[in-house]
Amino acid sequence: MKEKVLWESVLEDIKQELNDDGAFVAWFKPIEVLSLTKEKIKLLVPDEFFLKWFKKNYMEFLERAIHKINKNIKIEIVSGEGGNIKKISREEKKKEETLLFGYLDPRFTFDTFVVGKSNEFAYAACRAVCEEPGTRYNPLFIYGGVGLGKTHLLNATGHRILQSKKRLRTCCITAEQFINDFVRASLNNKIIEFQNFYRKSFDVLLVDDIHHLEGKSGSQDQFFHIFNIFFNTKKQIVLTSDKYPQNLSKMEERLKNRFEQGLVVDIKPPEFETRVAIVRKKALLDNVDISENVASYLVEKVNATNIRQLEGALVRVIAYASMSGRAIDTGLIDEALHGFIQEKKRITEDDILEAVSRHFNIKVAEIKSKKRKKHILFPRQISMFLFKELLGLSYPEIGWRFGGKDHTTVIHAVNKIKTMLQRDEHLRETIDSLKKMLS
Ligand code: ADP
Ligand code: MG
Repeated sequence: MKEKVLWESVLEDIKQELNDDGAFVAWFKPIEVLSLTKEKIKLLVPDEFFLKWFKKNYMEFLERAIHKINKNIKIEIVSGEGGNIKKISREEKKKEETLLFGYLDPRFTFDTFVVGKSNEFAYAACRAVCEEPGTRYNPLFIYGGVGLGKTHLLNATGHRILQSKKRLRTCCITAEQFINDFVRASLNNKIIEFQNFYRKSFDVLLVDDIHHLEGKSGSQDQFFHIFNIFFNTKKQIVLTSDKYPQNLSKMEERLKNRFEQGLVVDIKPPEFETRVAIVRKKALLDNVDISENVASYLVEKVNATNIRQLEGALVRVIAYASMSGRAIDTGLIDEALHGFIQEKKRITEDDILEAVSRHFNIKVAEIKSKKRKKHILFPRQISMFLFKELLGLSYPEIGWRFGGKDHTTVIHAVNKIKTMLQRDEHLRETIDSLKKMLS
């Protein structure tokens, strides 16, 4: 589906330009691509009013984004009113629909998921859940950073369960949707209906981004009771989150404890090889074959562990190749991504030391000194950790830069920070803000 690929790339571009999520969702999301050739792109919008308003207010954004890829392409927009054109993407929805509440992205299946060291545990856990829902790992709690495949795995689990013969009624929603439902039910005096619906209608409950419940005590309370009913009747629950349960700071203790009751697995940032494999797989799904070398070049150039970012770049490269009728090679990648990825600023040792010194309000000389006072030792250990992570220096090299310390001291420091990071929210924020300062 080249059209889709191109369109996604254009949308991404417009989203950035427009810098207004509300307008983007209202005026660009509803547009569908009807056809695409090198000469013309034909788009469908919902109705006449939409078309008029769009042309008046947003056409220039669209033109600019499309013409960035190909200057000569003509844009035609038709409205769907009274038309006979609206038939796209319906066939994707199969009979499983009756068993499903919420949404499963058809692209996110186990077949399209690349397994590597970073995600094999989470993957295996999801497969096990599909084998015997509700009995083995309940709840299954998957946590990890942005764009690492949590939603993909959750959806894959849903698809697989729906395909099994058991005909389990499955609910796959985001926590936001749950909150919205609850708020709407409260406003309309329909709490009982809301509770009955979630408590009784399903055999499997999949909730994405459960961290959105943080700070929402009313929704947490509702979710707690629904959770208990599922748990007690051995019905499967799978949750995803951006944090480990105990690090959900604004979540009730009783919920956090429930989340830990089954199996907690994390997804880590993918290693280089996995990222290359993902790029190749995604390209193949668009019927584009990219060699290992070229895929590696792309991965290196994008230099992000967030797979969504990587995909964004790939989408752009494929669109560029298809619009210009050229093959994908390193030269084309350079052209397609020119200005798209920000050239990374080179971080230096002094940058890190200065950032840490500013953050902790101590002198750079003190960080590098031999003083062992706690308020200096800790920032020094953080600096060593950042030297390792951001500069990739070896342990002896780092020791040498901190006044000739032994490499074992450095290993101790780096490991200590790494271990603390898994549990210590505050430290994670500190490191994040230091990194932000440095980027
Ligand atoms: P998260 O929910 O963790 O933020 P997503 O599941 O939305 O991340 O993944 C972001 C994108 O990366 C999706 O398009 C997804 O298909 C893709 N992706 C992530 N991990 C993998 C993987 N292991 N194999 C294939 N695609 C992946
Ligand atoms: Mg997600």
